Amino acid sequence: MKLFFYDYDLADWTKWVKDQGLPTFRARQLAAWRSRGIQDPAELTDLPQSLRDQVLTSFYLDGLVLVERFQSSLDETAKYLFRLKDGNMIESVLMHYHYGWSVCISSQAGCRMGCTFCASTGAGFGRDLTAGEMLAQVSLIARDIGQRIGHVTIMGIGEPLDNAENVVRFLRQVNEPRGLNISLRHISVSTCGLVPGMIKFTDEGLPVTLSVSLHAPNDTIRRQLMPIARQYGYDQLLAACRRHVEKTGRRITFEYALFSGINDKLEHADELAARLKGLLCHVNLIPANEFSGGVYRQSHQTDVRTFHNRLVRSGINATVRRELGSDIMAACGQLRRRMEACRNP
Ligand code: SAH
Repeated sequence: MKLFFYDYDLADWTKWVKDQGLPTFRARQLAAWRSRGIQDPAELTDLPQSLRDQVLTSFYLDGLVLVERFQSSLDETAKYLFRLKDGNMIESVLMHYHYGWSVCISSQAGCRMGCTFCASTGAGFGRDLTAGEMLAQVSLIARDIGQRIGHVTIMGIGEPLDNAENVVRFLRQVNEPRGLNISLRHISVSTCGLVPGMIKFTDEGLPVTLSVSLHAPNDTIRRQLMPIARQYGYDQLLAACRRHVEKTGRRITFEYALFSGINDKLEHADELAARLKGLLCHVNLIPANEFSGGVYRQSHQTDVRTFHNRLVRSGINATVRRELGSDIMAACGQLRRRMEACRNP
C-alpha cells in the first residue's frame, strides 16, 4: 500500500534514501517539499525523473484534494473543504488577524465526543488523521494564498486528545526550521476535557496553548452539553488544568460558548468566576453558532455583554470572541455536515 508523502519527515526520508542506495542530500530535498503544499509529482523539480518515478511507486502526493473553497464576503476568512484519499471529508479554516494568518485544522474526520451543541456530532466518525494530513492542511492553504502561516489552532473537526499520538507528532514537525517553521507558542490545542489525555499531554512539555472547552459553570449543565463530563467531573477537569499550569507555567484558555437560557445567566457567571478564581487562565466567550437541526440558540448580545462584565469584575480574564466568516459557516463542523447531508438526503 502506498504512503502519503506528507507523512514522511527528514528521519524517514533519510532511512528511505539509504535503503534505495541514493545520496543522503536527497532526503533533505524530499523532506522540504511537504511544507510547500505540492500535490503533483511533476512539481518535485529538484529531483530527476527517475527518482520522481521511484517516489511514486511507494507514495502518493494527493492525500488532500480541495473540493471547495468558500470565501467570506464579510472578512478575510475562508473555509476549505478537502477530500482525503479514502473519501473522508475534512475542513480547515483560514483567518486573518492583526498578527497574521492563522489556520484552524481538523484532527479527525468526524468526532466521537458527541457534544450536543456541535454540528460535527451529527456527521459521525470517520477516522483519525495522520500527522501528514494535518501538516498538509496548513501547507496547502499557505500555498493557496501565497503567504506564510504563522499560527495554527487545532480546533476544527475532531478531538485532538482522542488522536494524541498523531497530534503530538504533528506538533513536533510543524516547527521544523526548514519546514513550516511555525513556533509552538503560536499553536493552540483545544480539548473537550479528556482528563487522562490532558495529563499525558502536559507531560509532553510542548509550549503550545492548551484550550479547554468548558461551556458550563458546573457538572449539571456540563453533562447536558458534553457527554465527556459524565466520565470526568468538573473538579477532576480543573485539577488537570491546574496541574497543566503548574507544570508548564503557561496560562490555560477556557472556551465558553453562550447558549441562550442554558449557561448565560448572571448566576452562571458568578459560579464560573468562583470556580476559576486563582487559576492562571483566560476565558474566551463565544456567541454560540446556530445551525439547522441544532437545538440551542445563541445568547442575546446584551446577555453576552453582561456575562462578560460580570466575569471581568470578579477578576477573571475574559474576552468575547469576534465572529469571523459567519456567512460561510466557518464554525466547527458545519460545512462537512452540509456536504454529508447533500450526499445522504
Ligand atoms: N474537540 C475539541 C476541538 C474541536 S471543537 C474541543 O472540544 O475543544 C472547537 C471548539 O468549537 C470547541 O470549543 C467546541 O466546543 C466549539 N463548538 C462546537 N460547536 C459549537 C457551537 N455550535 N457553537 C459554539 N462553539 C462550538
